[in-house]
Amino acid sequence: MMNSGGLVSEGKIPVPLKSISVDVQVQGHVVTVTSTLQYVNEEERHLEALFVFPLPADAAVCHFSAKIGEQEIVAEVQERQSARDQYDDAVSSGQQAFLLEESAESSDVFRLCVGCLSPGQNAAITIIYVTELAVQADHALRFCLPAVLNPRYTPAGSGGGIVSEISSVCGSVPYSLTLSVHVSSPNPISKLESNCTLDPLVFLNSEHTHATVNLSPGHMFDKDVELFLYYQNTHQPTAIVEAGVATDQPGSLMGDPVVMISLYPEFPEEVMSSLGSQGEFVFVVDRSGSMDDMMHHGKGAQSRIEGAKDTLLLLLKSLPMGCYFNIYGFGSHFESLFPKSVLYNQDTMDEALKRVKKMQADMVGTEILQPLKHIYNQPCYPDHPRQLFIFTDGEVFNTKEVLDLVKSHTHSHRCFSFGIGEGASTTLITGMAREGSGHAQFITGSDRMQPKVMQSLKLALQPAVVNISVKWTVQDGITVETLSQPINVIFHGQRTLIYAHLKGESSGSSEGTVTVTYSLKDQPVTNQLHFCLKPTEDTGLAVHRLAARALIQSLEQQERAGGAGMEDIKSRMVELSVQAGVSCVHTAFIAINKDSRQTVKGPLLQRRVPTADVSGVYCYQGPYQASLDNDLLLKSSLSGMFSSRRSGSFARCKSYVNAKFVGACAGIIGFKKSLKSNKGFPVQEQKSGIPQKVTALFSSRYETSAVLSGQEISQGKQEVDVELQKDSLLQLVSLQKASGCWDLTPTLAHVFGKTEDELTNQKPAEVNQSVWATLLALIWLYGCKIKDQVEWQFVAMKAASWIRSQKVCEIEVPERLIMSYDALRTFGTAQRCRQVPVRQATEQEILLAHSEEYLEAVKQTPKMTEEQLMEFSKKYNDVYFHQNIYHCAQLAVGATLQLVDSVMKREVRNGMALVRPPGHHSQRSAANGFCVFNNVAIAALYAQKNYSVNRILIVDWDVHHGQGVQYCFEEDPSVLYFSWHRYEHQTFWPNLPESDYTSIGKGKGSGFNINLPWNKVGMTNSDYLSAFFHVLLPVAYEFDPELVLVCAGFDSAIGDPEGEMCATPEIFAHLTQLLMPLAAGKMCVVLEGGYNLKSLTQSVCQTVQTLLGDPAPRLSEHSAPCVRH
Ligand SMILES: [Zn+2]
Repeated sequence: MMNSGGLVSEGKIPVPLKSISVDVQVQGHVVTVTSTLQYVNEEERHLEALFVFPLPADAAVCHFSAKIGEQEIVAEVQERQSARDQYDDAVSSGQQAFLLEESAESSDVFRLCVGCLSPGQNAAITIIYVTELAVQADHALRFCLPAVLNPRYTPAGSGGGIVSEISSVCGSVPYSLTLSVHVSSPNPISKLESNCTLDPLVFLNSEHTHATVNLSPGHMFDKDVELFLYYQNTHQPTAIVEAGVATDQPGSLMGDPVVMISLYPEFPEEVMSSLGSQGEFVFVVDRSGSMDDMMHHGKGAQSRIEGAKDTLLLLLKSLPMGCYFNIYGFGSHFESLFPKSVLYNQDTMDEALKRVKKMQADMVGTEILQPLKHIYNQPCYPDHPRQLFIFTDGEVFNTKEVLDLVKSHTHSHRCFSFGIGEGASTTLITGMAREGSGHAQFITGSDRMQPKVMQSLKLALQPAVVNISVKWTVQDGITVETLSQPINVIFHGQRTLIYAHLKGESSGSSEGTVTVTYSLKDQPVTNQLHFCLKPTEDTGLAVHRLAARALIQSLEQQERAGGAGMEDIKSRMVELSVQAGVSCVHTAFIAINKDSRQTVKGPLLQRRVPTADVSGVYCYQGPYQASLDNDLLLKSSLSGMFSSRRSGSFARCKSYVNAKFVGACAGIIGFKKSLKSNKGFPVQEQKSGIPQKVTALFSSRYETSAVLSGQEISQGKQEVDVELQKDSLLQLVSLQKASGCWDLTPTLAHVFGKTEDELTNQKPAEVNQSVWATLLALIWLYGCKIKDQVEWQFVAMKAASWIRSQKVCEIEVPERLIMSYDALRTFGTAQRCRQVPVRQATEQEILLAHSEEYLEAVKQTPKMTEEQLMEFSKKYNDVYFHQNIYHCAQLAVGATLQLVDSVMKREVRNGMALVRPPGHHSQRSAANGFCVFNNVAIAALYAQKNYSVNRILIVDWDVHHGQGVQYCFEEDPSVLYFSWHRYEHQTFWPNLPESDYTSIGKGKGSGFNINLPWNKVGMTNSDYLSAFFHVLLPVAYEFDPELVLVCAGFDSAIGDPEGEMCATPEIFAHLTQLLMPLAAGKMCVVLEGGYNLKSLTQSVCQTVQTLLGDPAPRLSEHSAPCVRH
């Protein structure tokens, strides 16, 4: 193609391209680009120059004209072969001719034959193309004018392909660029940025819906010019109607108006941090011979196929219940595990694992097109977005065909690709991910496959917009014909444009309506848009042309599918292409200057126009890339899994089984500490108590992988699994049931390095075996395998959600502690703290704040049966007793007192006690509101008794009133108690009149109790700061405490289902900082409530970081405090 008729000359020959001027017209989400290229032949000879023009992948060329000397020629779209023949004829007969066609190798490279130029002659070539603007992760619309060709598709057997045709010059290119941009949109423009220097943006109207900007003069076209356009209300759908061509026939696409709907749904953060449970997951695994190669040549290497099998195990275990799945293997042929995707349950999972185990690299070649076609031909399950996971280590000969196929199904699936080993084709892997809106990962050297695949699974599990319907309401006589292919699903970060043809003559009312409905995480969303049926403004034809292209694309797809009527389809494509002036695979632009019949003298030369040198690697930077390595995102999705459902009143733990676990984890922090260093954790003899049991179970063998010998394994189908697994994590994972739970089996015990008896003996009698096993597995994962968390995160989520489904308390969950501590570790905060050993409180200490009768009663609870515990719980308000809760409450008090000791003895400056159960509702003779013993009240009495502290300030920033603390000190002037709380005129729990501001203390204690009831929800940072500055701090500084205790409940932070307040986690850094100067810094912060795990963990981190002396972060919000209610 390159060499036809021409001689390739070597050496330094002047370049004929002199300048490019570009006009960019943006209409909402689409753009028309007009490029004019100026050439001059500075040589003494006639020559044929060739310019390979890089276009955005989705561009459709719609105009091509050339001006040579005084002659102007406008090219027309013709059927491709006929255009080529005419071009060849013209050139060989000495005529000037131009040909513009899509490159056969890649649709985003246009090859421009400038034709035969006489010495000294000028040529100006104008290309107009239209394209949809791509959406970036930050919602910007990106326009790119490419200056260079990136290394790209190099199909096998084509001898280097396009890339080798571009000769490069180092440094700048010898032609310049001018560029002007005009934007018009239904949404106001908020800003326009570029990687190049722009003149200031000029708004053309007061609504800011029209604007213009130019590239600053003197720009050398040495890099891609990128523009980033930001609209206000970016997620609001828009409708743009474009008038047809007056001279074209009504009823034809170009003669009628066309409407374009842009759909770019908002995915709120809450939704993104949750996981969609539905989906269809199709795993496609390369089983060609090369998959037998080793992943690397270092120690412990495994073969690629074994790595893929381990990864499949993890994936299969991580899938949510209720999804669909299938597994394909491919080589020279392909096979699927199930004829079509099946519902994920224990049986199908077992079946799949059995088959995966037998999987071999025995399918010879690498032919991926056929399995993909097979998958795409299967109907999608409604509301189960299809997601492909493709693993391959090779290259294919038909990359473009594969990528086209992936792309043509972009609205029905998403594609995640994994390149294994050094030989995997970058073009194929990144291309499939780009065209399939997914993400590409490369696993080379000693990389582990599992964490990378789990990162992609995390994206795949995010909820998507489904159930999309578009309904048109227009007056009689008008019909709407949708031209785009139906949309099944929109994933996060995807934008969709829908084109429709408005047919018929409108009379009277000139307005139409379109109603777009969809659902996101089971929430229905409806948008209604109005549009004018007869637009008056002439805004070009970008929408028409892109609509035509959308239709051409669906015809192309039909053509690819094959079958009868192929000639028909082709002729419709050619017709549409010619009519709209949009080229397609069957057409090309051709223009011939028939008047110039000059004789060509000397040899005809072919020139390559240089473009700037490229050294970068082509890499997909989709909207997902940015979030991948962001650990916070991981945390947020994790916390989303655990976060409780919204509940209006305080305690919703209707199930009795709850309490079994509510208490169980008070010691987990200590447990985890003990794993890190076996000293430091107080070893105390305990007869009962899960933390001690767990410690005893795990402390010795942690981090050793339990390799089992065959004889030790009990009978059962898991036997083979275990043989296959090389490390203890995979062993544990392989034992997990599809539902997320584990059974208490000898094999599980072996993973922990224990016997089944050891596990069973430690199990509290009334706890179900699977619940116990699952809890142990979770604790083992968090304790022993935390560094591999990315691999087991979904396995753990499933386990946690299974435990919750066993009627565990919805909001007062063990994860409150686990995740708070986890967050402190993640940010390196825990490592900066001195950790204080935990101990149990003594009875004498508990009796400081509680009656003997009450203590005696609680002491009986570990021996009670479930029924007795239930009866006992009924005596109190919103509290649930479990056999272990007495022990855990003792630990919670003991931990608080340890902190008081450390602070009072000046061993530490200040500190925070992460404890469960909380305490501030608990009263002298009554448990109340999740609280058994009043940790903070006991701490204050303990400090008075042991350290003769004269004045103690207790600040209760929990969103509930700590009535237990108030009762304890209301007559005591040496303890100043301040509490703000959601009150709503006594309608909010605990609904007490004494929670109102009128309760100021009694007798000598009068004036030492301050209640600040919030009579509405939604209080902000400003409200909290005002309360501190205007109410608490003046009194607190006058009071001059010698010790500050904080009832630190974070249910007063944003997102909490109890508090429903709007203060952000950062506020707690400020509140902490404002209290730190008091009492010479002696401050003990004790955890109370906080039920939104994300808000809670962030707030805990803010508090502890401030206690460590970090500066408080800037508060984003600066509104005035609320003054009325
Ligand atoms: Zn609370």
